[in-house]
Amino acid sequence: MPSMANPATPTDFGFHFANSYLQLPAAFYQKQAPSPVKHPTIVVFNQALAKELGLNAAALKNQGAAYLAGNALFAGAEPIAQAYAGHQFGHFTRLGDGRAILLGEHLTPNQQRFDIQLKGAGRTAYSRSGDGRAALGPMLREYLISTAMHALGVPSTLSLAVTTSGEPVYRDVAYPGAILTRVAASHLRVGTFQFAAAEQNPPLLKALADYGIARHFPDSHLHAQPYLALLDAVINRQAQLIAKWMHIGFIHGVMNTDNMSICGETIDYGPCAFINRYHRDAVFSSIDEDGRYAYGNQPPMALWNLTRLAETLLPLIDANQEHAIELARASLENFNNLYGHYWLSGMRKKLGLFNDEIDDQTLAVQLLQLMQNQQADYTQTFLSLTSDAFKPSALYQDVDFQYWLSLWRARLSRQAQSWEDSMQLMQSVNPTLIPRNHLVEDALHAAVYAKDLSAFNALLAAVSQPYTAANALDPYQKAPSASFDQSYKTYCGT
Ligand code: AMP
Ligand code: MG
Repeated sequence: MPSMANPATPTDFGFHFANSYLQLPAAFYQKQAPSPVKHPTIVVFNQALAKELGLNAAALKNQGAAYLAGNALFAGAEPIAQAYAGHQFGHFTRLGDGRAILLGEHLTPNQQRFDIQLKGAGRTAYSRSGDGRAALGPMLREYLISTAMHALGVPSTLSLAVTTSGEPVYRDVAYPGAILTRVAASHLRVGTFQFAAAEQNPPLLKALADYGIARHFPDSHLHAQPYLALLDAVINRQAQLIAKWMHIGFIHGVMNTDNMSICGETIDYGPCAFINRYHRDAVFSSIDEDGRYAYGNQPPMALWNLTRLAETLLPLIDANQEHAIELARASLENFNNLYGHYWLSGMRKKLGLFNDEIDDQTLAVQLLQLMQNQQADYTQTFLSLTSDAFKPSALYQDVDFQYWLSLWRARLSRQAQSWEDSMQLMQSVNPTLIPRNHLVEDALHAAVYAKDLSAFNALLAAVSQPYTAANALDPYQKAPSASFDQSYKTYCGT
């Protein structure tokens, strides 16, 4: 174990890099070392994740700052910026890692492969007019929300550390700069396939598709139609992912095709938010003026993005374009069935239902409609059902809701499982707390403006255990005042 007297060497941190992305044709990346920063300091470190990855957590935390800021390179790192493209709010653009640098792929002791990326590590060939840097607030925000999503059971990229740079970054005003160490199953995006297709060089596309299959969906190669199987697998993962977002009330906020990972992890926490009072049209992002990525629009937007993926794969699916379109269309048409299936089975659990009845969908939809009518808090409504304890509220006083409750109780009594079994099932899927937008903002404000991380760390600890029974008065559970949602805005934070 290195001590302060013996500075850590690049091999001391426990990384085992095996960088398969470099086997792809050179068009897919640019070699690019991170740009050093003045004074790297680790401000948050994910000890549990470091251990899960088989890393030397103590060495990283105590002596890893220079490495996590990109001033020094871990043994085996071969830094690159990845090329990609993407539809941003419906408009096609060539993009690429403009401020993120992939150090390489770390193999854990049980041979799991993870991308280790530094976000905010300096300019790259894809930076356009950007500075390649990131501000502390948005990096802490990604750290916090990704950790919460993981704890909530939603597939997500993970965050190993936030390291301040000791340098300002200039946005509307100057902010402290920071680098996030992001850990992901991969950074293969729908936009990576769009990049390959836009190059109009068929071997590039095939190399990428084969790589995606080998890395995430190896069974697809056994299929008579491996590239159609790849499309089906991505569709299935996204249907599952979006259903999970809907179940916990998560709004991604910027579901551009470059922010959709083919392995089905939530990626790029920019203007994301959680709904408080239930509304299908809820949207908080300052740049999403038309509500393209509103809460209730996420399933059709996922399908829109998957359609862009399918378009790129057509030449690989069949040489006959008509036939390829026919096959891809059938796969895409299945998205709504898959999504509907995942959504309803998750809602059944949220309502404590073990078996299937034909009217379950209606029961769930009616509850959401009642919440919307009465501006009820989404998380708290399910929590009240879970404990069968309703505070006096507009929803509870609504006669239609009382009628709904009687239908729900009758439905519970028609299944073999006991009331207690139902409550246990509900407790396992209905979070006691989510990262409430107002609490997130308060914590970030104190961290950025007062250099005080105590609120951030306390909130982080709370959202890391979202299914633990908590006191109903727990401040982390409280919904904000009604006026908060009306004025709340999130920003992309670039
Ligand atoms: P995002 O909205 O974070 O998904 O980013 C969209 C694109 O803008 C990606 O290609 C990013 O790499 C790029 N980008 C975002 N912020 C910066 C920055 N500060 N400097 C350079 N490129 C950036
Ligand atoms: Mg992005």
